[in-house]
Amino acid sequence: MAVRKKPDNGAEDRLEASRTMLFKLAAACGEEAGLHRPLADIVGGVITSIPEDTDLAQALSDRETTDLLVHLLDENREQVERALERVREGGYGICEGCGHRIPAARLKFQPAATRCVECQGHWDRLNGRTA
Ligand SMILES: [Zn+2]
Repeated sequence: MAVRKKPDNGAEDRLEASRTMLFKLAAACGEEAGLHRPLADIVGGVITSIPEDTDLAQALSDRETTDLLVHLLDENREQVERALERVREGGYGICEGCGHRIPAARLKFQPAATRCVECQGHWDRLNGRTA
């Protein structure tokens, strides 16, 4: 089998790899969240006891952190899927916003990028994302 250099410079392989990794991370987060002890015993909607050694603030913040992480992983996965679509459409490396070529340095740092820095910033603001 002849090895053919892909026109996307291996971007598809790298994106597939990060998609797999994101799936694993999200699964790991979900499992970890599932392992958390319940914050309290709840019987019929009424809290009947709270374990004495439970640091409620810590437990709550752990939970929030996990939720946030899972959310971020989801967003990342969406972005990777989007970039893979662009590879298949032949539009990989072209900014979805302005249609200009995304700088190679940005793609090297962020292979899943589908917009140039400027358009991404604009899009993030419009969508209330800060990353
Ligand atoms: Zn752009």
